[in-house]
This record gives sequence, structure tokens and C-alpha cells, in this order.
Amino acid sequence: MRYSALSLLVNAFSGQKNWTPVWREPEPKPEYDVVVVGGGGHGLSTAYYLAREFGLANVAVVEKGWLGSGNIGRNTTIVRSNYLLPGNEPFYEFSLKLWEGLEQDLNYNAMFSQRGVLNLFHNDAQRDAYARRGNAMRLEGVDAELLDQAAVRRLCPFLEFNDVRFPIQGGLLQRRAGTARHDAVAWGYARGADSRGVDLIQNCEVTGFLVEGGSIRGVETTRGTIKARKVGVAVAGSTTRVMDKAGLRLPIESHVLQAFVTEGLKPILPGVVSYGLGHFYISQSDKGGLVFGGDIDGYNSYAQRGNLPMVEHVCEIGMAMMPMLGRARILRSWGGVMDMSMDGSPIIDRTPIDGLYLNCGWCYGGFKATPASGYCFAHLIARDQPHEVATAYRLDRFETGHVIDELGHGAQPNLH
Ligand SMILES: Cc1cc2nc3c(=O)[nH]c(=O)nc-3n(C[C@H](O)[C@H](O)[C@H](O)COP(=O)(O)OP(=O)(O)OC[C@H]3O[C@@H](n4cnc5c(N)ncnc54)[C@H](O)[C@@H]3O)c2cc1C
Repeated sequence: MRYSALSLLVNAFSGQKNWTPVWREPEPKPEYDVVVVGGGGHGLSTAYYLAREFGLANVAVVEKGWLGSGNIGRNTTIVRSNYLLPGNEPFYEFSLKLWEGLEQDLNYNAMFSQRGVLNLFHNDAQRDAYARRGNAMRLEGVDAELLDQAAVRRLCPFLEFNDVRFPIQGGLLQRRAGTARHDAVAWGYARGADSRGVDLIQNCEVTGFLVEGGSIRGVETTRGTIKARKVGVAVAGSTTRVMDKAGLRLPIESHVLQAFVTEGLKPILPGVVSYGLGHFYISQSDKGGLVFGGDIDGYNSYAQRGNLPMVEHVCEIGMAMMPMLGRARILRSWGGVMDMSMDGSPIIDRTPIDGLYLNCGWCYGGFKATPASGYCFAHLIARDQPHEVATAYRLDRFETGHVIDELGHGAQPNLH
């Protein structure tokens, strides 16, 4: 069913009784050309682009829970392409360009809103670092503006400009960046993939891999064996657990990241704002809630919940940046499991098992990558060649030393 103003009108006059389900609930077939493991944003977008761009429709997405039950439905929805390094910037800009046409492409309202992302700086050294980042972005043809204090004041007069330790000196602004409705992104890709013949199989956990002579033959699941010529794994925080079943150890650690939302308020935040001297980022949802987050909890875990010390830590930083936040009441908080790579950049690559492909290492930045990750992973699976913007995301870079140390922090997930 195509969504349009006319379909809204027709259904309004027929008592909203004629909407069809957004996707089917098929039984798994015994065999597919490609099985994608993980029905999060990346798995669903991979299936969508496999069908739409590469003509592969005999595809199944196998999800252990319900579609969108992982990080795709838990994140703070920030979309941006303000990266510094050559291995990353073209990829994230490719993603942002896909975001810009996504809703028309999917015929689905993902509430993508380009209201800007502003990263604050608080001292001269940090200003220089942001100037360098902004220049690197502009060299790649990406929009970036360095704002002085007066310009930040005009945009966000309510910030704490006079803090004696960390006065706000200015900020790096990317106007084309913004936010989107996370679940709608998953649902839009699911609908698009389903309508092109992809089977979306929920409540079906992959419990093992069928490997013969070093080549993949399929997967074992809680709903039986499913054979496949190729298998792509995109299970984010569960990556190490799932790939362990294929006998592969990875340079990935799983960590919890929490997010918070306040009661609904009148519009105050023009876009996304992030603090420069502590890890804190905040935006306002269309319903009015302030949505914010900070650091990962800092210990390895597969649990989708966090601990209280980080709640206090995040709120302290939020108050330092935006004191009026103290008047808002937090309604909900939740956690997701992050697949932290050891250089802060992702992996989209083949594995030592022929026909088994891996997509992981998104740390806490994979939502913005959803379109490009799916596109590039589909490209890799269909053509056995990396897409040109994802050539740096090799699995073996930790052995060869070609790491993409985007945040300059080295192998410390707690600092990413
Ligand atoms: C609190 C929080 C805030 C974040 N904020 C941002 C942000 O502002 N901007 C940004 O860009 N990124 C953000 N992220 C990161 C982003 O959400 C993730 O990097 C991204 O969603 C991961 O990819 P995914 O959507 O495919 O993962 P998921 O949605 O987690 O998908 C993986 C799926 O695999 C399934 N699975 C696991 N094991 C199996 C198995 N054995 N068999 C079958 N299925 C399995 C899981 O059930 C899950 O549905 C945030 C994350 C969190 C938790």
C-alpha cells in the first residue's frame, strides 16, 4: 500500500479499517540466497538495498526478538556527518545524502529533521581542533561553520556562557545534521524490504552457523535450519556472542549506553547541542521531550540497562552546560548494548569464512550510519567487493595497523 495524502483521506472516510499490515509474517523457507542476521536498522537497511539496488530478493532477515527491539529503537537519534578522518568522512556524508532522500525513497515518514548539530568549544586548543575538523569537512564538500561566542548566544541564549572553568567560546555547527524518528526508520526499511519480497522473520534467534570446508552453508535458528549461499551478520551489541558461534574472536567489546527523556516542554532547543568538556548531547523531540545522553557506563555488559552513577554523571554535565535543565523532570531512561570497536570506527567486511560477512563496531554512532551501512553491506554481500566509501572498514586493520582512530583516543572504549 502506497502512503499519500489521498490514502489518508480515503482511510479517514472508511473508519481507518482498510489499512493493510506494514509487513508480512512469513514462515522461514528452507533456503535463501542471503540470510541477514539481526533485524535492527543495519540489518533491515541491508535487506532493503539488497533487493532494491542489487536485485536480490530471495533474502531473509532473521531477528531474535521483534524488529527494532535493539539499539535502533533506543538511540538519541542524532544524524550528522561531521567526521575528521578520510576513512570516515566520505562514508558518513554518503549516509547523510541518503538520509536526505530517505522518506521519499521509502514512502515513509521517518521524521528526519535537519535542525543542525552544534558542538561547543571551551578553550583555544579545542577551537583549533574544531577549526581543523571543519576545514577537513569543507575539503570533502561538507557543510561546516565555526561560530564565535556571540553567534552561539544568538542560537542558544540559555547555555551557561559564564562558567569560570569552562566558558563557552564558540561552536562548530553542521546545519544539514539533525535528528530522525528512530523506530520509524526501522519500520520504513522493513516495509520497503518486505514489499520487495524479503522475508522478515521475527522471534527467530540464530544459534549457530553451518560451515563446510571453510564456506558458509546457512544458519541454525530456534525455528530450524535455514540454508543460505551468503550470510551477513549485523547484530550490533551481540556481535561477539553471535560470531563466537562461528569460532571468530573480534576486536569488539560490548558496553552499555544510557539515554534519558524529560517531560514534554515547549520548543526551546533549536537543534542538537553537545558539550565540549564532558560527554553530553541533547536535542528536543517533536513531542517536546528533551532527549539526552552521555558516556557509556564503562564496563563490559550485554544487559540493556544501565546504572545510577552514570545517571548522576550525565545530569551533572547537562546542568553545567544548560542550568535550566535542572527544572525539567526526567520521565524515562533506558540502555542499549554498544558494539565498541577498538578505534571507534566500524567494520564492514568479509570474514575468514567464505560467504560470511560482518557489519559491526558502530560504537554509539551507528544510527546516523543506518542508510550507508545497509547500502555498503549490501554492496559487499552482492558483489564481494567493498563499496568505495567503506574500503577502510576492514576487519584486519587491527592486525595491520591501519586503524581509523577518529577520536584520537586509542584502544579505550571508555574514552570513545
Ligand atoms: C542510548 C543510545 C543512544 C544512541 N545514540 C545515537 C545517536 O544519537 N546517533 C547515532 O548515530 N547512534 C546512536 N546510537 C547507536 C546506534 O543506535 C547503534 O549504533 C545502531 O542502532 C546499531 O545498529 P542496529 O540498528 O542494526 O542495531 P540493533 O537495533 O541493536 O540491531 C541488532 C539486532 O540483532 C538482533 N540479534 C542479536 N543477536 C541475534 C541472534 N543471535 N539472532 C538473531 N538476531 C539477533 C538484536 O535483537 C537486534 O534487534 C545510540 C545507541 C544507544 C543505545
